[in-house]
Amino acid sequence: MKVCISGISGRMGTEVKNLLEYDEISGGITSSSTPTEIENIIRNSEIVIDFSSVSNILNIINICALYKIPIVSGTTGFSEREFDKFKSYSNKIALLYASNFSIGIYQVANLLKESEKVLDGFDISIIDRHHNKKKDAPSGTALFLASQLNKNPQIVSLRIGGIPGDHICSFTSNDEEVIIAHRSFNRRVFASSAIKCAKWLVNKSEGFYDLGDYIHDKR
Ligand code: NAD
Repeated sequence: MKVCISGISGRMGTEVKNLLEYDEISGGITSSSTPTEIENIIRNSEIVIDFSSVSNILNIINICALYKIPIVSGTTGFSEREFDKFKSYSNKIALLYASNFSIGIYQVANLLKESEKVLDGFDISIIDRHHNKKKDAPSGTALFLASQLNKNPQIVSLRIGGIPGDHICSFTSNDEEVIIAHRSFNRRVFASSAIKCAKWLVNKSEGFYDLGDYIHDKR
């Protein structure tokens, strides 16, 4: 598998680069890449793994569609309109998107859906704690977890220190509280899962896939 790493100089791009063999990397895209460089790297790749910015992914997705190169993306911070545009390319290429690539968060989402059914009338809240360089708030993960619930939770975002990502979800009544929390210890957890997803996606036909599609197909 020849991988183009979109966002190669960033925190996540560096993790992806460190987990791949040297000869698996066809090249990388950064904010200083020229349009010609971007096109050359993409057309010499079998897949793009993207952790960059919304403007970058919406720029390179045209080129991926032109050369039929699938994309695994974990970039967050899309508006609804931007995400619809991103998703619309799934009729041309295979796209796998996860706002959080950890299997732990996938399971937290399952637990939240189950808990909401039982904990009727409880107030629901999500605290997302991330490092102080993170650009978007709430996190893509907090929004993803909220989207799994029928009731809108209160979301609080903290941008402090070097935390790779914590999500603390609470169901609170006057008398008791249930807390479902997830903590990632490092960024390797997201990068290694994105690489596994890329190996799975590389030969898939066009369509929109998520982490659940990968997890259930691998079982
Ligand atoms: P970062 O700022 O450290 O790195 C961003 C990279 O993208 C850099 O290489 C930069 O050069 C490149 N880039 C940004 N804008 C660009 C543009 N317009 N053109 C070309 N290249 C551009 O950020 P990070 O911490 O690595 O996070 C990147 C994204 O991944 C963020 O949206 C973050 O929220 C998300 N993220 C997702 C997960 C997940 O599991 N889905 C986990 C961690 C981070």
